[in-house]
Amino acid sequence: MSRVAETDVIIIGGGIVGASAALMLALRGQRVVLLERDYCGSRSSGVNYGGVRRQGRSLVQLPLSQRAHELWSDLPGLIGIDGEYVRSGHLKLARSDADMAKLQAWADAAADFDLGVELLDHGQLRQRFAWVGDVAVGASLCSGDGHANPRLVSPAFAAAARRAGARIVEQVQALAFDHDGQAFEVSCSNGERLRAPWLLNCAGAWANHIAEQFGEHVPMTSGHPAMLVTEPLPVVMDVSTGVEGGGIYARQVARGNCVLGGGQGFALDPLRARPGQLATLDILRNAVELYPFLHGAQAIRTWSGTEGYLPDREPVIGHGQAQPGLIHAFGFAGAGFQIGPAVGEALSQLIVEGRSRAPIDAFSIQRFSPLELHKGRSLS
Ligand SMILES: Cc1cc2nc3c(=O)[nH]c(=O)nc-3n(C[C@H](O)[C@H](O)[C@H](O)COP(=O)(O)OP(=O)(O)OC[C@H]3O[C@@H](n4cnc5c(N)ncnc54)[C@H](O)[C@@H]3O)c2cc1C
Repeated sequence: MSRVAETDVIIIGGGIVGASAALMLALRGQRVVLLERDYCGSRSSGVNYGGVRRQGRSLVQLPLSQRAHELWSDLPGLIGIDGEYVRSGHLKLARSDADMAKLQAWADAAADFDLGVELLDHGQLRQRFAWVGDVAVGASLCSGDGHANPRLVSPAFAAAARRAGARIVEQVQALAFDHDGQAFEVSCSNGERLRAPWLLNCAGAWANHIAEQFGEHVPMTSGHPAMLVTEPLPVVMDVSTGVEGGGIYARQVARGNCVLGGGQGFALDPLRARPGQLATLDILRNAVELYPFLHGAQAIRTWSGTEGYLPDREPVIGHGQAQPGLIHAFGFAGAGFQIGPAVGEALSQLIVEGRSRAPIDAFSIQRFSPLELHKGRSLS
């Protein structure tokens, strides 16, 4: 029989959420073991578009998003690198008067958060951002938002957690869970068994399988945003952009490559996704209309990822219903990169201080599923 390693907190998942929680907990003196079945930051957290924006979020997410904005402001202090994070501003374009009215309505609703949102009419947009296509009738600018390189940032959270004392275990899957009334016991794919009073379920698009082990059923589905990057071009885009109603988003990095996303790809299997030809062509078509300077640009790479969506497009964050000590944080629906560090901090506060300083009640798992208890089954 293998030895059981005792710790304070076991975290499942080394994306930006789990790795941030590991960092914040280790900084507060907790003994942490984080299990990642692949490499930290290799899933959604490392392959996303890199948008670091508050603009357009639901109002219930804004307190956490504002806290994340503060944490992003000292990324080198937190994780040791700048992660190519720039506060370029986020420009959300409207293609119709109706869409412009929606941007205005969101700016009004979010006014109390003091985000510094500016509404630009067609003339102001042309004057400030002459590279935007004429199809845009106006826009909303949140100048404190920006973008970063997820491939650098997300693994760096795990590396910082390791430096702070967390044990980060990669290429090891959490297979089965049990609770003996005192603590959780997690059986791992390397044969190790871990025991702790706290279990954080930060397993991204796969977190519902873990919740199910405890009888908590959530109607989470997977999405696969399609992404591409162009060859390096003369630098013209000085903000990250999106469009009201969705469809496309684009940013340009200092080297000149434009990163674009839009539409959905498809899953090859539960772990792998591809952007697909149709979504890629749609991105290129939309891009030339909105950003005419991209006409004739070569796409040099396309990709996708797997992320979890709940029906109300809000995440699950907070205590599980089934078992004291079980905490969930998943289902970030295309917007977890920006908010991830603040979610990790909130999870650490739940454990160390007994409550999250930012309000998280709206994200309770209780809004779904009546509870059925099926503890201790193995994941397959
Ligand atoms: C293409 C794309 C574009 C996006 N663009 C943006 C954007 O511009 N801005 C933004 O804010 N958000 C964006 N997102 C969303 C954002 O990337 C996610 O919301 C965020 O990364 C979720 O982080 P996470 O830690 O919850 O999940 P993940 O990064 O998926 O991490 C979960 C981890 O858990 C691991 N795991 C699962 N099960 C187990 C197990 N049993 N044992 C051990 N490990 C396990 C997985 O391997 C994975 O690494 C985008 C997502 C995608 C896919």
